[in-house]
Amino acid sequence: MKQYIQHDPWCVVEQGFHANYNEITESLMSLGNGRMGQRGNFEEQYSGKTLIGNYVAGVFYPDKTRVGWWKNGYPRYFAKVLNACNWTRIDVQIDNEILDLATCQVSDFRRVLNMKEGHLARTFVATLASGKQVKVESLRFCSLIDDEAAAIRYAITPLNFDGIITLTPYLDGNVSNRDSNYGEKFWNEIKKQATHNEAYLELKTKDTEFETELFNVATAMKIALTIDGQAVDFQSKTIEEDKQVACQIVLQATAGQEIVLYKYVVNLSSLNHAPQNLLTQTKAYLKRIADKGFEKLKAEQAQAWADSWAKNDIVIEGDVAAQQGIRFNIFQLEQTYTGKDERLNIGPKGFTGEKYGGSTYWDTEAYCLPFFLATAEASVARQLLVYRHKHLQKAIENAQKLGFNNGAALYPMVTMTGEECHNEWEITFEEIHRNGAIAYAIFDYVRHTNDHAYLAEYGLEVLIAVARFWAQRVNWSEDKQKYVMLGVTGPNEYENNVNNNFYTNYLASWCLRYTSAEIGTHWPLVSADAKTRIQLDVKKETAQWRHIAENMHLPYDQKRQVYLQQDGFLDKELLTVADIASQRPINQQWSWDRILRSCFIKQADVLQGLYFFEDDFDDNSLARHFDFYEPMTVHESSLSPCVHVILAAQLGRQEKAYEMYLRTARLDLDDYNNDTEDGCHITSMAGTWMSVIKGFAGMRVQNDQISFRPFLPQQWQSYTFRVGFRGVWLRVAVRPNEIEITNTSPDPITVQIHHQAITILGGAKEAVRTQGAVA
Ligand code: BGC
Repeated sequence: MKQYIQHDPWCVVEQGFHANYNEITESLMSLGNGRMGQRGNFEEQYSGKTLIGNYVAGVFYPDKTRVGWWKNGYPRYFAKVLNACNWTRIDVQIDNEILDLATCQVSDFRRVLNMKEGHLARTFVATLASGKQVKVESLRFCSLIDDEAAAIRYAITPLNFDGIITLTPYLDGNVSNRDSNYGEKFWNEIKKQATHNEAYLELKTKDTEFETELFNVATAMKIALTIDGQAVDFQSKTIEEDKQVACQIVLQATAGQEIVLYKYVVNLSSLNHAPQNLLTQTKAYLKRIADKGFEKLKAEQAQAWADSWAKNDIVIEGDVAAQQGIRFNIFQLEQTYTGKDERLNIGPKGFTGEKYGGSTYWDTEAYCLPFFLATAEASVARQLLVYRHKHLQKAIENAQKLGFNNGAALYPMVTMTGEECHNEWEITFEEIHRNGAIAYAIFDYVRHTNDHAYLAEYGLEVLIAVARFWAQRVNWSEDKQKYVMLGVTGPNEYENNVNNNFYTNYLASWCLRYTSAEIGTHWPLVSADAKTRIQLDVKKETAQWRHIAENMHLPYDQKRQVYLQQDGFLDKELLTVADIASQRPINQQWSWDRILRSCFIKQADVLQGLYFFEDDFDDNSLARHFDFYEPMTVHESSLSPCVHVILAAQLGRQEKAYEMYLRTARLDLDDYNNDTEDGCHITSMAGTWMSVIKGFAGMRVQNDQISFRPFLPQQWQSYTFRVGFRGVWLRVAVRPNEIEITNTSPDPITVQIHHQAITILGGAKEAVRTQGAVA
């Protein structure tokens, strides 16, 4: 755990340069706008520890699979979001010395991610080997309003000398992914051009032996210069190298003069523009952006973020660290996914790093969907579901490759196009619970939005394909006289190839029941085309599904009255985390073999099931399971603590809930797991949001109503948030002994507060005494 980031309610502040932590800070200070994003790298060259990262949403390359031992069914490639043109680069030379913070003395350094206004700023004074000193102030953002554009203001002032300052703003496409399987670079140059104040670089992803799409990305910049606030004309020399183009400006500067370089950038891709039009459209876009000018763009950015915060802020009084933590999570989620484009999704690291390839995981359905359901219009969450519907044919093909038939679908564990990218057999073939999360997300969406039309239009087709998978994946055990599911990996990846993982079996049974029930209501509304595609024998298939659901084996211990994570779980030596305190994290200290044989649990597994299906378990049962499993859980996935916060809160264990919350709230800001340098844990940030809303505030959607059972953590004076439910927006304030709900929409709504139904008229507010505890 590191605590060098200063506590501030609206900003993430690095005061003084922490060179050793630079890659961590770069992750934290990432910017994005849903369409593109980048790490908080320096503009000028830096020879120290750095991971340069610029990403364009949806632009990927199929990196050929590399494994030690090939297994039939392995995917042939891993689709990675590509490190794209580095448009932030501005080389700086002072007389004949290069400005590089790794080789000069740095003072008054401050790097600030301003979450309120959506920009990244940096100031410092550098003293070069010659003794010459410069002051630098930079500020940049990725525009939310014009989401293919960005802008940088880079100001440099010689403090103690007159001399030559050379500024070279670059478009640098000579980049690679650090995690590329064979050390390859994935871009070819298509075109580059430059004038004295504009440059254009078009790259295309290299040909591939796979059938995936190739992408063209055109990046262009326009530069402007002021000296002491006055716009100046300038000449520049064009530098053209392989996949690089730059305009080099040489200036005679005098001490105290402030030279400001403005760099307007646009990034257009063939995802949204025909390749033959890229040049003209990029230039037109660039002109529009540069004509607006920096201050207008910056003001628009601040306004766009003000509008976003007015909707989705969580205000915590009395705890600045918690305030900063929750805003950081909301900020990152909002800049990663906007729901504008159904082809895009949410990579576990968003635009903040390369790990996990920027691909889609079950994280989206299980963790991110609830955030977007409650904080955005229903159309945003719907896009996430439509994304999977679009991948259905590929999921059916994935299942066929593994030997399934009759339209059974296995969604991938990791994907960009719908094809599986993951290549560890125990996850690729066995971690099949992801299929259930996709079905659960449909249920979650419909219960929250009441958009039943979605089921007839898209949802049912997905549910049927998933149900067919489960029906073929189980087999009847003569011995048990039950259906069993053999050779799986549950969410707890510290167990592989187990039989009858409770979570997977329970989820599969639920899917089969839910799909049968929804077919009863919605099948008649499905289009004729879809019916022809699906070829469902309604009676026969649903009868079979119900039979499986009713006769699924769920391992259970009568003595403890708990469901077992899998068959044979009790044969393990049942230790608790307290017994191995000095040996954690076990994934860094133990052999894999030892981990697999141990009882230790990476992340919520049985408890993930109790969280999803809480209505099926009373609080006594929940408490027994929590008390059995939580002490064995090492929470070595960032997705784990939030589930425990919600369950602990449900049980009225407020201290435990808060303790768990602390592990998720500032996970990245304090580099809790020593891995923020790889990128921030974007998908688990939605879990942090859930911890507050579903955990502390106890928000649920049940029986067509929204309900709250809030408590106020002792460490806080109050917290306030806004959630939407079926078109009605509620502002909820939880204070000592009181919850106040304001209905900010015109329509009335009935809300359950501590099991009491309260109707709140449009524009009205109601307060209820709560005695500070969970009822
Ligand atoms: C977790 C998975 C998760 C993945 C990406 C892994 O460490 O065990 O559940 O999908 O990270 O976030």
